[in-house]
Amino acid sequence: MKRLAILGSTGSIGTQALDVVAAHPGLFEVEVLSAHSNATLLIEQARRFKPNAVVVTDETKYKEVKDALMMLPIKVFTGHKALAEVVQWDTVDTVLGAVLGFAGLHSILAAIDAGKRIALANKETLVVAGELVMARAREKGAVIIPVDSEHSAIFQCLAGEDLNKVEKVILTASGGPFLGRKPNYLVNVKASHALQHPNWVMGAKITIDSATLMNKGLEIIEAKWLFALNNDQIDVVIHPQSVIHSMVQFTDGSVKSQMGLPDMKLPIQYAIAYPERIHNDYKRLDFKDFPKLSFEAPDYKTFRNLALAIDAMKKGGNAPCVLNAANEVVVHAFLQNKVGFLEMSEMIEKTLDCMTFIEHPTIEEYVETDKEARIQVTEFLKKSQLSIY
Ligand code: NDP
Ligand code: MG
Repeated sequence: MKRLAILGSTGSIGTQALDVVAAHPGLFEVEVLSAHSNATLLIEQARRFKPNAVVVTDETKYKEVKDALMMLPIKVFTGHKALAEVVQWDTVDTVLGAVLGFAGLHSILAAIDAGKRIALANKETLVVAGELVMARAREKGAVIIPVDSEHSAIFQCLAGEDLNKVEKVILTASGGPFLGRKPNYLVNVKASHALQHPNWVMGAKITIDSATLMNKGLEIIEAKWLFALNNDQIDVVIHPQSVIHSMVQFTDGSVKSQMGLPDMKLPIQYAIAYPERIHNDYKRLDFKDFPKLSFEAPDYKTFRNLALAIDAMKKGGNAPCVLNAANEVVVHAFLQNKVGFLEMSEMIEKTLDCMTFIEHPTIEEYVETDKEARIQVTEFLKKSQLSIY
């Protein structure tokens, strides 16, 4: 029996994780659930899965959740500090980190400090502070198992292999809904269009990141830290069918891949059940449904976010933290139709250019960088909105 803390249980990953739990009675026990502001769903989940505790990080929702669960033996907390405390409880073995964005960092660090097994979906944690997070995980003996499908694929390909024999990893990317499109088309696309991903059903932020290819940029940085790779050991190839989830090439030229249907329940299940591989009844991959698997190079010129992320990785220090913060803000603005699709990269680049570089940030400096980058990019957004009128 694995005792789980599911952080971000009301999101796309969180709800699918609970589907996995429900499909395997007796294998998992839900100890903790957390949401930010979706009190209604959190209450419903708490009634169904009967955790020991729930955390609603948005303090304005605390009373609603507390009152609704009053008659049940469930502790209710609010705030990020409480979230960082409950993940350290002895009753928790595995923490699924599925909070969105930078906000997930503190609770993951707390779980690492307590030496928990971590099923990590929150890629932003590694993008922002990968070096620090991985070093601390090694020091505290916390095992991190990736949930992101590409990284789960690489992790599975590396099982039983000598890590010194890895030549490179090849991340596959679907290319998103705008594959093959050029700037003259992209200049007019709106959020409703970008939210229609061809293969994956995901939360809004990551779906936009997939359309801009920022998601792949973030994943390159995520892979660097997870698998201790050099910058030139990570390649990206566009593979529109999303059947090959990623590949590893070894020093003898052999390439291993992991395949499956594009369904996040598989990597979620793999990560929370690890090291066991458990059975399920989900639809199987039938190669006859995919007579053609195709591959092409990404268009770095049109999808500038990918190039910006690679540059930020090469620069290192707090640059990926700036990239991530600026991206979170512009994606939020794009979802509200307050900034254009192509303008997002412009704003991120301007923010990267104007921030002070810190080569080896402390955790406090990451927090400060994140805050400052959000202020800067918001200024750029305001200026560009003013210039429209
Ligand atoms: P969603 O937006 O669907 O869900 C995010 C979850 O985090 C919700 O439970 C939300 O609560 C909670 N949350 C949001 N903001 C905060 C905050 N400030 N503090 C605490 N909790 C917060 O996101 P996804 O499930 O799509 O993604 C979660 C993470 O997993 C991301 O880092 C993403 O990159 C990664 N990921 C997702 C994949 C997918 O298929 N969706 C694939 C690979 C990685 P509430 O509902 O109350 O707002
Ligand atoms: Mg992914």
